Amino acid sequence: MTPYHAGMDMDPNEPAAPGTIRSLNRSLVLDAIRRGGPTSRAGLARALGMAKPTVSDIVAGLVAEGVVREGPITRRGGPRPGGPGRPPVVLDIDERHAYVLGIHLGVHDTTVALADAAGGEVSRRRIPTPHLPAEEALREVGALAREVVVRAGIPRRRLAAASVCLPGQVDIDTGTCVHAPNLGWRDVPVVGLLGAALGVPVHAHNTVQATAVAEHAEGSARGARTVALVYAGTGVGAAILHDGILFRGAAGLAGELGHAVIPGLDARCSCGRHGCVETAASASSVARAARDAVRTGSPTRMAALGDGVTSLDVYAAAEAGDTLGQALLGEAGRTLGIAASWLVNIVNPDVLVLAGGLVGAGPHVIDPFRAALDGHAAAGALARLQLRTWSLGQDAKVRGAVLLALARTQPSVRVAVTGGQSSPTGRIGP
Ligand SMILES: [Zn+2]
Repeated sequence: MTPYHAGMDMDPNEPAAPGTIRSLNRSLVLDAIRRGGPTSRAGLARALGMAKPTVSDIVAGLVAEGVVREGPITRRGGPRPGGPGRPPVVLDIDERHAYVLGIHLGVHDTTVALADAAGGEVSRRRIPTPHLPAEEALREVGALAREVVVRAGIPRRRLAAASVCLPGQVDIDTGTCVHAPNLGWRDVPVVGLLGAALGVPVHAHNTVQATAVAEHAEGSARGARTVALVYAGTGVGAAILHDGILFRGAAGLAGELGHAVIPGLDARCSCGRHGCVETAASASSVARAARDAVRTGSPTRMAALGDGVTSLDVYAAAEAGDTLGQALLGEAGRTLGIAASWLVNIVNPDVLVLAGGLVGAGPHVIDPFRAALDGHAAAGALARLQLRTWSLGQDAKVRGAVLLALARTQPSVRVAVTGGQSSPTGRIGP
């Protein structure tokens, strides 16, 4: 697993990490073990420029806590190569010392994944999202998550944290879903409700942000320094990461690209305004436009489907040569490309990831997207830009939730540096 930088969503209200040099050294040791794989006390001391007794003391504490284990065989390395003299005792993260829950609460489905301290998934369950009042829906999701932990045979005390991502504006500091139009939620205390059900710290994030975190750590943007992700599914959103740090904004609401207004568009948006990007560049807007066209008698092979046309039907029609289907997808791609050009000009990313269900329409969406991006973004920003589509697909959402939960439980990850360049102390301080 790519080391993951949790600094991106550090909670400013969290008490400052205790102490000090010792806790900083502990983080550095833990992080070096995590990133470097199996290593020895002497190797750590050399790599970190610390005194051996200091390293030994910290390692003894980590071993006693069960966070780190020692032995000749490790999950990543296998047996150490032989050499002269006594082989060093090898240290590695014990992935069983803690577990986290990642929960993706989607408009249609909800997925709960239980993962170990190394991010390896132990169990996963998916159910249709309960369409109930928010409090009851979260009670059901909490019960499902508890059941996943029990069935996996993981002792409750080993469960360290949970993260939930959902399709809406989430205030990271208060753990409140401010507004999730596609769920019909407003001002829902998600973290409070799920935390009460699970009995561990819970954090809530926007699904697009979680998707970007997963694509950066394990997917198509791996290793990229500055990443912008544009998501077009039921809704539209965006997320930005730099040096592995998620740009969260004042309250975690950064990236609301779907609710930026494009002059000339006038459809009413789920957010209550008119002309938002989401009204013309989402899977739901494509399906709605197709239903409107069918209703007004436009010639199309979707006519027989009447009011039941979905975005998948539009894609199937476009594939079969239906010009209306092709035009609708093309218009969605074009609108999305214009919106993405704003992001590219402002952020100047190395990698722009196009994600979400609409990506499934392939060239019908991606070609006009690329053309609009090329036609609207600044040449300088385009010069170094690599456009990629998401590689984890729908899995990215729950994987992002797992990674965000892990980051919260492992303070050492805060000083991890992505991309292999180590300047850990550069992450701390003002
Ligand atoms: Zn809107």
